[in-house]
Amino acid sequence: MSEENKMSRRKVLGGLGASLAVATVLPAFAAADSASTSASSAPEGLQDPTTMYPKPPFKGQSQPWPGLASQMEPKPDHGETSYKGSGRLKGRKALITGGDSGMGRAAAIAYAREGADVAINYLPAEEADAKEVIALIKAAGRKGIAIPGDLRDEAFCVRLVEEAVRGLGGLDILVNNAARQQTRKSILDVTSADFDATMKTNIYAPFWTTKAALPHLKPGSAIIATTSEQAYDPSPDLYDYAQTKAATMNYVKSLAKQLASKGIRVNGVAPGPIWTPLQVSGGATQEKLKMFGGQTPMGRPGQPVELASIYVQLAASDASYATGQVYGSAGGGGQP
Ligand code: NAD
Ligand code: MG
Repeated sequence: MSEENKMSRRKVLGGLGASLAVATVLPAFAAADSASTSASSAPEGLQDPTTMYPKPPFKGQSQPWPGLASQMEPKPDHGETSYKGSGRLKGRKALITGGDSGMGRAAAIAYAREGADVAINYLPAEEADAKEVIALIKAAGRKGIAIPGDLRDEAFCVRLVEEAVRGLGGLDILVNNAARQQTRKSILDVTSADFDATMKTNIYAPFWTTKAALPHLKPGSAIIATTSEQAYDPSPDLYDYAQTKAATMNYVKSLAKQLASKGIRVNGVAPGPIWTPLQVSGGATQEKLKMFGGQTPMGRPGQPVELASIYVQLAASDASYATGQVYGSAGGGGQP
């Protein structure tokens, strides 16, 4: 596809304009395969999910934790060129942790295009990814607020929520999505520092952000947590991570019961293997990475964009009876 065609398609699909910042986030394979992307822009057309996105084998690759989406090969698809909104979250105010990449970024792009203002949290090392997301939120005509910082710190979690509330002028969607995942062959290789970092990021942080957010959440608000297929079917090399995902599923169900009478819904998303920086920065072995997603019935990993509509659905007011639910997306495996 010529550069000119790419640019005009980009404008049509995303309404993004032609800023350089935005151009850098286009997934390479999306531009290369016009058949699959033109299909993804035409919701009235049938699309074969088995051939929409890359399949293994993948190139071995490794980045220092927490990794950058922009450095992955192929680049993940977060919906930059394809997600189209229809006003489902008009005027809503969302805070998404881990909003710089992966599922959090896909949710941030979708939320903005559905009419929400969005604050994202991420680690300072992820500034480059975060900048692209803020540019995409702004290109959708919404407020985009970047709040970098380490969620393992309770004081930061409180400040994060305060800054988001101040910047957005309120809060009615909280997405607890950030997580730490590091593969360790044996429990003997999991240090106390490892264990502590995983628990702090994946369990304590959502506890702290939820507590800080609750006084601001009016009836109709939604809390969404990213859990995992690991909650039900843990891998042997993810001893600490997998148990945090079971805990996440559990807190979704507990909190949903606690908050139902206040009109606040709490739900979870349980992804299967998804092509994100978490996997290439210590989350998976090189061996697993090369064949990533190949063991699913779909024969490929999911892309973050494929879960965007689930985050939208769980936040939207028309999902008013859904609380305490966990929605999966795992290419045919993974669920109970
Ligand atoms: P990702 O690397 O894009 O996102 C994880 C984010 O967590 C990072 O971008 C980072 O900003 C954030 N983070 C980690 N430690 C942090 C800290 N101490 N302080 C602040 N932020 C921190 O990867 P992803 O796969 O999109 O992960 C998003 C969620 O999806 C996680 O909850 C993960 O457990 C879950 N998940 C992923 C997969 C998968 O295969 N990728 C499968 C199931 C569940
Ligand atoms: Mg990231």
